[in-house]
Amino acid sequence: MPEKLRSMVLESPFTLRMWEFPYPEVPEDALVVKMEMVGVCGSDIHAYEGLKSVRGRDLPIILGHEPVGRVYEIGKKARVEMESRGNLLTEGDRVTWMSWLPCGKCPVCKLMPQSTQLCQNPFFYGFTNCDKEENKPWIFGGYGEYIYIKPGTYLFKVDESIPLEAIVMTDTIVSVRGVEKAMTPYPNIKEGFGFMDTVVVQGDGPIGMCAAAKAKALGAGIVIMTGHHESRLKLANDFGVNSVIGPEYDSAEKRVKEVYNITNGRGADLVLGCTGVPLTMLEGIGMTRAGGTYVEIGTVADRGTVPINPALHIANKDIRIMGQKYAPPQQYDRDLKFVEKRIFPFEKLVTHHFKLEEAQEAIETHLKRKSMKTVLLA
Ligand SMILES: [Zn+2]
Ligand SMILES: [Zn+2]
Repeated sequence: MPEKLRSMVLESPFTLRMWEFPYPEVPEDALVVKMEMVGVCGSDIHAYEGLKSVRGRDLPIILGHEPVGRVYEIGKKARVEMESRGNLLTEGDRVTWMSWLPCGKCPVCKLMPQSTQLCQNPFFYGFTNCDKEENKPWIFGGYGEYIYIKPGTYLFKVDESIPLEAIVMTDTIVSVRGVEKAMTPYPNIKEGFGFMDTVVVQGDGPIGMCAAAKAKALGAGIVIMTGHHESRLKLANDFGVNSVIGPEYDSAEKRVKEVYNITNGRGADLVLGCTGVPLTMLEGIGMTRAGGTYVEIGTVADRGTVPINPALHIANKDIRIMGQKYAPPQQYDRDLKFVEKRIFPFEKLVTHHFKLEEAQEAIETHLKRKSMKTVLLA
């Protein structure tokens, strides 16, 4: 058993440093995982930049919530109780887990058990302070050699044949739950996303690619992607995209016009905002057909406001505008199955690998938009 466990700690905005933590005591209902790989997520970047987001405000923290690793030490009860699909667990098993935990005590958890993503007091792996006494044993982030897994965590055993890079993408796929939310049936015919509908995905990053794949898997007839990066758009075809509106369409007007060209003047049935840039929401609503649906997926950090004209953008278009925040545990199970089925080559989204001690460089690479998905190897 190692005496000192190394983790990269976000001490203050723009500063990551290697800290050492003591090896924790493992009670019978918990476990320790030796990390293999962790994804660098957009919300890690928000915390790194010191942006106001719901998560990651109480520095210092060990980032990392897109994990895969192997069971290193496991308590007696955890061996039989911890795996979400009922599998027994033992040392050496490869596992991943949902990156947060509902509290189980708030009114949402008690009265809306299908919507625990709205829990009022959730626990987050990868965003928990790591120097306060009450947060012991502190190693709750994936940017480390080892991580402590609390009782109640939604943990999944994964097959050895799945590439680590594909497993790491699970959390990103979970984060495009809005594609499924858009299927919510409404009483009127043809409201909500359905079979053979035309979908626009705004944004060519990992979230956009996962949203395109999910829309295709759920029955989209045509998937159109808008994006600025030639190198990224080359991957679009692998993720179910039929038509790309690339950097040569250099204004919102041109991109909206092209969507109407492709759809015979109707507009898209469903538009998925996956850029993280608030202003593209107006462009996306512009692409949405009358009576269609727009889902804001990518903008999770507060990056400002956009001017909405309630008459033109919403009421007279008769559209649905939806949001989404994290996802409940059942979503994680479904999306891990989606990865396990190997329908789309999610591992291709991982373009850059860094060592744990290079975490800052990994984040900077992501910030400069040089990578699609960046991962750290423990
Ligand atoms: Zn994430
Ligand atoms: Zn709760």
